[in-house]
Amino acid sequence: MIPTTRFAPSPTGPLHLGHAYSAILAHDMAAAQKGRFLLRIEDIDQSRSRPAWEAQIFDDLAWLGLSWPQPVMRQSARINIYQAAITRLWRRGLLYPCTCTRRDIAAAAAAPQEGAPLVGPDGTVYPGTCRPGPAWCPPISPPPAGTPLRLDMRRAEAALGHRNLTFNETGAALDGRSGAISIAWDEVQGAIGDIVLARPAMATSYHLSVVLDDAAQGITLVPRGTDLFDATVIHLILQHLLELPTPVYHHHRLIRDDTGKRLAKRDDARSIRTYRHDGATAQDIRRLIGLP
Ligand code: GLU
Ligand code: ZN
Repeated sequence: MIPTTRFAPSPTGPLHLGHAYSAILAHDMAAAQKGRFLLRIEDIDQSRSRPAWEAQIFDDLAWLGLSWPQPVMRQSARINIYQAAITRLWRRGLLYPCTCTRRDIAAAAAAPQEGAPLVGPDGTVYPGTCRPGPAWCPPISPPPAGTPLRLDMRRAEAALGHRNLTFNETGAALDGRSGAISIAWDEVQGAIGDIVLARPAMATSYHLSVVLDDAAQGITLVPRGTDLFDATVIHLILQHLLELPTPVYHHHRLIRDDTGKRLAKRDDARSIRTYRHDGATAQDIRRLIGLP
């Protein structure tokens, strides 16, 4: 297998120093292994994606000295593939419809018998209000369009035989661990819970699309920020449920601004474009983010 890394931005804003770090790392790691560096445009959120942002991403990455094979994969062209995977999981009874609002979830999670509400990667851990009972069998009908579908993590755990899932970490997990990292199901159930896997507006979700795309592109190594560690756990579970290979993950430090705050897309002041306008070179950017 050819060593393959990727950078997968969403065209919803300008790239900032944190993106530059992930992209350059992915590019350099592929080069070091004589492998491939791929670019993927994560534009499933059509309400926020803009062609102008996409054009700027290509331009900024080329300016940083990166190159990638054409054509690039675009998630908006792969909705049928995501739908097919949703249908597969639905038929196996691993998904259930849920129209709870954020407020419903907050209220249910705050009920006295629930203890302190836990916060997971997508907000409050879902308290299970709409989760079907053990006797529930998925209907023969196709998954309901236009309704959010949650992944039933308890059924997922059972479907995978309750065995611990493991991935290889070449960076550092949240607690600094590297090497073979084993995920305990207790933590998944308690801290992640039944995440939404299909959102009505996009008929998929970030988690499902990423897993299917990484497999379709033959990605063997995913460099990403430590803020995505919980997402990696979800991806690991989905890879096993969908019988897809698990890449190696390299969680890297986050690039922070001068006040120590994590950089977000809306921090235009730190966008690559702004540095370019101010006369910085690509080498200056590498130095700023601590890369040789
Ligand atoms: N589109 C995601 C982002 O911009 C990709 C991150 C990933 O899956 O590694 O954060
Ligand atoms: Zn619900």
